Amino acid sequence: MASEPLAFPSLIGQTRAGLEALCREAGAKPIHAETLLAHVFRHGGRDPAAIPGLPRRLAAWLTERDTPLALHLVRDERASDGTRKMLLAMPDGKRVETVLIPGQGRLTQCVSTQVGCAMDCAFCLTARGGLERNLTTEEMVAQVLAAERLHGQRPRNLVLMGMGEPLHNFDAVARFVRIATEPKGLAFSPRRVTLSTVGHVAGIRRMIEERLPCNLALSLNATDDATRARIMPVNRRWSIAEVLEWTRRFSRLGRKRVLIEYVLLASVNDSDENALRLLELLADIPCVINLLPFNPHPGADFARPSEARVSAFRRILVDAGRIAVVRESRGREISAACGQLKARAVA
Ligand code: SF4
Repeated sequence: MASEPLAFPSLIGQTRAGLEALCREAGAKPIHAETLLAHVFRHGGRDPAAIPGLPRRLAAWLTERDTPLALHLVRDERASDGTRKMLLAMPDGKRVETVLIPGQGRLTQCVSTQVGCAMDCAFCLTARGGLERNLTTEEMVAQVLAAERLHGQRPRNLVLMGMGEPLHNFDAVARFVRIATEPKGLAFSPRRVTLSTVGHVAGIRRMIEERLPCNLALSLNATDDATRARIMPVNRRWSIAEVLEWTRRFSRLGRKRVLIEYVLLASVNDSDENALRLLELLADIPCVINLLPFNPHPGADFARPSEARVSAFRRILVDAGRIAVVRESRGREISAACGQLKARAVA
């Protein structure tokens, strides 16, 4: 698919503090950061020269130093449930996907944080190509602005659940979260931004220490270390006990939600015993449990459990008083599970 470039000024990678520093460096008052925030982030990534009310000298100084970021739309697919997947080429040609998911009057955008992924989860298509590189903060913000430009609507929720492990690219992701939740900028409520991790404990610790303004989703997917290490190699570094200890600490920060993601793989982690062990593991962690029946892809080593098995698993959790929701992969016919669009486009 040939497309016009989607161009954005490099200012989209700056936090409020960064914009204030740039204004000072240019010899202008830091208050102009307000105008930059409103026009660069709220109005779809506007070129500084076209921003009304910005001193001409400051606009010229910024334009001179700007290295605009141009993305291309490589593929654009829509599923019958309204899910829209866009494959975007970054300036160096590397491709990442971002997905818009409608639901109950709200639009959610799934953002990628890396090109490929190093985590090597056995059930994931993205894992097959390994990690190519980290995305920059600008490239993450550009996914949001590009989707808004193409779709004509800004989403209400952001989930960092696309390609990559966000906490493996902590600094760029943390800056992205701060820009996304800046009230005068992209202005997402911190309660509507969720970072999903495989259980990168060093990253969860930093989220806590730095009070990152977002929710945490932990992709758990097993209830014993041997099984988890087999399907998620990250468990060889950080055990279930360790990752749950840090998730528990995160849950105590207040005003933040914890979600536990559990991909159900037939005959691997979907037995009644698994459900009972999951209850024990999560006993003192307030959270919502999302059950995701595996969405098989070509060459997958796993199968999807039957509807009856999924229901029985959920019933055990619900009967024990836990909130457990079965979430279907949205847009299954356009391969909406993580990494699948890119895998298909480059095949
Ligand atoms: S599931 Fe997520 S963390 Fe695991 S390999 Fe795939 S993209 Fe990486």
